Amino acid sequence: MRVAGIMGALVVGGLNVASSQVVISNSTEPTVYAYCQKFQTLYTQIREQRIPPDSARLQFSSIMYGLQQRFRSNESYQQDSIQRDSLRRTGRYFVFPLRGYTASSIGGTHGEGYRSVGFDLFDYNVRGSHPAQDIFISDRNQDNIDDRTGGPVDILAMTSGVVVGIETAWKPGSEYRGGNWIWVYDPMLHGLFYYAHNSQVDVTPGQWVQAGQKLAEMGRTGYNAYKARSPTHLHLMYLQIKPDGLPQPINTYEWLLTARLSK
Ligand SMILES: [Zn+2]
Repeated sequence: MRVAGIMGALVVGGLNVASSQVVISNSTEPTVYAYCQKFQTLYTQIREQRIPPDSARLQFSSIMYGLQQRFRSNESYQQDSIQRDSLRRTGRYFVFPLRGYTASSIGGTHGEGYRSVGFDLFDYNVRGSHPAQDIFISDRNQDNIDDRTGGPVDILAMTSGVVVGIETAWKPGSEYRGGNWIWVYDPMLHGLFYYAHNSQVDVTPGQWVQAGQKLAEMGRTGYNAYKARSPTHLHLMYLQIKPDGLPQPINTYEWLLTARLSK
């Protein structure tokens, strides 16, 4: 539990919040880190179909409500939020999630790879939708190494937020589609970013990440992404949390077009 306490403090510290203030005013409520642990457990249960979709929905909305409350409870943070909100309107809020790449690497010609119809986060059996953008690298021999640079490609956080879940143990042969994935909750947007198919994950649940910070290295993990017919790519999804606490996919294409690039 000592570790959990430290992680919680680190998360709060990343927001420049006086940690003593948070601890005193909300000592009976779960920490941000506790919500991250709940999210990690829930998403794993959904994937393994160990929880009925209706129960998963209830738990998800309760976790999202809890996270929202934890991040809302500080005035200095709200001022920060207003500043970043104006940044977002100018299109500079987002960082392009591949280092060294631009919007021309997004699949399709106008981001039409996005198909949200039929998406259900809580029922792993539902297939056919693709509420995401795939962003490709040059990797003809499919070894996860960028043919242009001779090195791996860094996956960067599109916005600042707290890592709420990761998978690091995907193995070839596994039917799980996301491979080694990362979920990041952005309290400013009150939404979740999902970065899938990574070869290596460099963050842990409870960790605060800044926009542009390295999260992972691109890979080919995941049931379909591992197959030879699939070019090496990042699968990027954003879920807006609605007032009822449930997720709604939003197309990130416009954000990607105006995102800041990292060399
Ligand atoms: Zn995809």
